[in-house]
Amino acid sequence: QYKRIELPKQSKDELYQMGETFNEMIRQLKLNYEKQEQFVSNASHELKTPLTVIESYANLLKRRGKTAPELFDESVEAIHSEAIRMKELTQQLLLLAKHDEQWKITMEIISLKGLAEESIRSFRTAFHREIDLVIEQPVVVKADVQKLKQLIYILMENAHKYSDAPITVKVLVENNRGVLEIIDRGIGIPASEISKVFDRFYRVDKARTRKSGGFGLGLSLAREIAEAMNAELSLESVEGQGTSAQIWLKLADSH
Ligand code: ADP
Repeated sequence: QYKRIELPKQSKDELYQMGETFNEMIRQLKLNYEKQEQFVSNASHELKTPLTVIESYANLLKRRGKTAPELFDESVEAIHSEAIRMKELTQQLLLLAKHDEQWKITMEIISLKGLAEESIRSFRTAFHREIDLVIEQPVVVKADVQKLKQLIYILMENAHKYSDAPITVKVLVENNRGVLEIIDRGIGIPASEISKVFDRFYRVDKARTRKSGGFGLGLSLAREIAEAMNAELSLESVEGQGTSAQIWLKLADSH
């Protein structure tokens, strides 16, 4: 493992400075290592839960499936839904892991109105939800279309999961940036939790989100996607009232 370099503190010469730089590098390496360890441990834990369910139902079928056919439907249903959950998790993990190789960014000039309309059409059908679109002004931005769609999907899925009322999507210009805003009037996020929801595997209420299917990876993935295309992501929320997520994009005519 890495060793701290100890140099006499009183010598403020170049060697001492270099020693301090190395120590800082070691600290960063250790930090990254600990983060990775935590990540692997969280991921394994999340995979273990559905695997345990699958294993026990498979066992049940093995022992009693032939003599008690009424167990069949329930078991197959549970195995199927847990397998889907595992597939979703591995897909998200792969996306996070393949960050470098797969994330080729192709910036294009696009109209946010057109993109928002297209996304909303597909969400309305998929989620059976009322989604309103408010175009405050025409906005043309620089973005990677596929990545932006992915980002919108994650934020829309959250708005859908954590609210029942209609969702609003707004397109506007603010602070010389093109903004796409997704607003829900759902359960909201407590103020003390808002800075944590971007952490990998962080969920405000684990019991509740386990039921609604979240792993706590969506927003961390969203932030990485945003960073990859030089966009920013912000979140405002009031517990019990709702959440608004904003994607800030470079305007096409800005430099
Ligand atoms: P998940 O897949 O669990 O939704 P995310 O990383 O997307 O993971 O979000 C992390 C947590 O932040 C969620 O588990 C949820 O508690 C909270 N959260 C995210 N978006 C919203 C929202 N629109 N309304 C309320 N809570 C939210």
